Amino acid sequence: MLIRMPGRRKKSDSQRRKEAKEKSRNLRLDEEYREREQERDTVAREKARTNAEYRVQEQERNTAAHQVARQSESFRTPERNRNRIAQQVARADEEYRVQEQERDTAAHQVVRQNESFRTPERNRNRIAQQVARADEEYRVQEQERDTAAHQVARQNESFRTPERNRNRIAQQVARADEEYRVQEQERDTAAHQVARQNESFRTPERTRNRAAQQSVRANQEYRQMEQEKDTEAHRTKRQDPIKRRLEFDRSAEQKRKRVKSISYEELFASYNQEIRQQPSFTCPCCGRLLYKNQTTVVKLENLFAKDFENDFLKTVLNNKLTGLPVVSTKVSFCHTCKNHITNGRLPRLSIANGFKFPTIPPELKVTT
Ligand SMILES: [Zn+2]
Repeated sequence: MLIRMPGRRKKSDSQRRKEAKEKSRNLRLDEEYREREQERDTVAREKARTNAEYRVQEQERNTAAHQVARQSESFRTPERNRNRIAQQVARADEEYRVQEQERDTAAHQVVRQNESFRTPERNRNRIAQQVARADEEYRVQEQERDTAAHQVARQNESFRTPERNRNRIAQQVARADEEYRVQEQERDTAAHQVARQNESFRTPERTRNRAAQQSVRANQEYRQMEQEKDTEAHRTKRQDPIKRRLEFDRSAEQKRKRVKSISYEELFASYNQEIRQQPSFTCPCCGRLLYKNQTTVVKLENLFAKDFENDFLKTVLNNKLTGLPVVSTKVSFCHTCKNHITNGRLPRLSIANGFKFPTIPPELKVTT
């Protein structure tokens, strides 16, 4: 038999829980109690966390709760903001920043080994680059960064040498394209014209060119090639009647200027000088006695190079030059004979046509 104690009523379980909850809520309204409770909780949690198994379970619980919460945008947005701010604060610390970059670099290297990550990454980078470069300011900054990095790298010979080789090969490949070559030359010409306006560029350039020219001309073979090229260019140019006329006018004008610039005294002295030399040149073709300025020098090899008929040269030269070396031998003809001979015609008044001068008798020879 159960004895009921006076004044005490047996409470149901639900009644007791309700009362405990009520009591707890009331206590929590008390600020001081709340703080003590939190401290107790913190201590208890830290103690529990020393247990590895508890820690793992706690993290799993947190992760699961987090995933659920994140599905709600009203949780997600403030979380993103919090994270962003926390990130900014943390990054203000130089040491944190370095560690973060090292972590990122390491993670990046691992994922890059996977081609399925690498390929889309390359595409992303390429597109991002194109977008960024469309901004003029970004482009300028990028070029400045590149230039600065390049200057530093170039100080290292182990970078410089392969770079030179790469550039050389790229240049050769590019130049094989006719269009590129034309553009390159236009660029060079334009740059050159600008540079030449500056005397400090022009003077050393002239000196360099002169020295280079002298150096190559010292080579006999080069000199000869150069002269042949000039002669050929000249000949081609003269075939154009307009150009020929222009050349004639130009040389006539030059001669006129030259004569005009000579004073009477100079002219008189020059005349005296010339008549003192006497007519001492004999045209091998017509046998006339001539002053030097009445003759034209012709290279024998140039005559032999022409396709004349047999013995034509022997006839016009009256066998005078037989046996002499063809190369380097020069002959002085009178202007008339020279014009006929170079055109393959025998001059009318040539010795070969029987117009031989008699020997000058001693009493008529000019004495000095
Ligand atoms: Zn002659």
